[in-house]
Amino acid sequence: MPTSDFVTFSKLPYEERLNEIVKDAGLTEEEKAVLQDANSLSMAKADKMIDNVIGRYTLPIGMAVGLRVNGKVHNVPMVTEEPSVVLGCSYGGYMAEPKGGFFTSTTGSVMIAQIMLLNVPCPENAKAKVLEHEAEIKELCDSLDPVLVRFGGGMVGLDVRTVPSSKGAMVIVHLKVDTRDAMGANAVNTMAEGVAPLIEKITGGEAYTRILSNLAVHRLVRSRATIVKEMLGGESTVDRICATAEFAEVDPFRAATHNKGIMNAITPIVIATGNDFRAVESGCHSYAAYGGQYTSLTHFEKNADGDLECSIETPMAVGTVGGVIKSHPMAGINLKIMGVETAEELASVIVSAGLSLELSALRSLATDGMQKGFLAGQARSLAEQVGAEGELYEKIVAKMIADKKVSLEYAQELFAQMK
Ligand code: NAD
Repeated sequence: MPTSDFVTFSKLPYEERLNEIVKDAGLTEEEKAVLQDANSLSMAKADKMIDNVIGRYTLPIGMAVGLRVNGKVHNVPMVTEEPSVVLGCSYGGYMAEPKGGFFTSTTGSVMIAQIMLLNVPCPENAKAKVLEHEAEIKELCDSLDPVLVRFGGGMVGLDVRTVPSSKGAMVIVHLKVDTRDAMGANAVNTMAEGVAPLIEKITGGEAYTRILSNLAVHRLVRSRATIVKEMLGGESTVDRICATAEFAEVDPFRAATHNKGIMNAITPIVIATGNDFRAVESGCHSYAAYGGQYTSLTHFEKNADGDLECSIETPMAVGTVGGVIKSHPMAGINLKIMGVETAEELASVIVSAGLSLELSALRSLATDGMQKGFLAGQARSLAEQVGAEGELYEKIVAKMIADKKVSLEYAQELFAQMK
């Protein structure tokens, strides 16, 4: 962990912040240079990453420092354009610290690949037959990814359902595949496509869809933390936070914004580590609706001591290998900064960061309101946009906050007056 606490860290000039992280993570001079270089992703590499490339798009990396997860302290890189979320995430970790930070459990690293068949002569009979052939299906699946098997992964089970549709009964086969340290989309898609002809033969039907499901219900992460009431300003704030959080559990309009607050931490870390943020977002939101009504991913309760117990449960399909993780110059460095060894550990830190930020957000929402913190971040961004530096920058930020007028026009006006 950096030698300074998270508040002091945030006030350091950026070079000193960087130096603390470099020292803490044991980064080399080359790795430090990569972090500072907006062009470290070369045009040649970018051109191979996606289609029709014409340039590169840069965002800042902010550090949420000192997040303790299962006893180990992590510095967490976040790639985002939104002010206040990085500090909010650190602040949640600070509030959780007196009771040991965040504690997690997972259901492992099992992904689902779906094969949907139509025109199956006897769907219920076909379902039974597919299950009878599990060993043969597993052998074929595993043969398609010997590297994954070498790392302890491979097919671990089968589920089969029949579902009525306008085209007759669909037979839906789920291949459950342990993808270990890979997110696993490519791995399981290859298996689904490779095994589909065998399943067609077994069922007598026709395989239409063969692809991963992002609703990764066998790759859940749960994280929890206890926040002593003194950290929140007393039991009445605990009550207000619980009520605010419960609003999100019962109302989908509020749940959408509550979960967006969680994704404010999750998505930036997923991006920083080279993972697929659309896959993660799809997984989290579909899990939030899995019970039939879209709801909150978290629970906040008051315990017998009047302290706050908070918890989250969500899928987290991320990897430390695969995709662009090894080829994007910054992804590996950010993983090194986080100090995570496995995909499971990475997922645990990401989900804990989501809970940490939402905890800070609910504290603000239940007390001062969100705008106070947000506007401070916004004021900094606007003062920078109008070209203010040094003392002038600080004065413009302070004036906008004091006058409760945080807009580009006012920043320009103050800049013209004060420069
Ligand atoms: P991948 O195929 O690049 O890498 C995974 C492979 O790495 C494994 O199959 C295995 O052979 C190998 N491997 C080496 N060491 C391993 C270890 N320790 N643990 C596990 N595997 C190890 O990538 P992937 O993870 O299969 O797929 C991720 C990519 O798929 C992402 O880029 C994502 O954007 C993309 N994708 C996503 C979707 C979706 O989410 N719906 C669909 C298609 C593709």
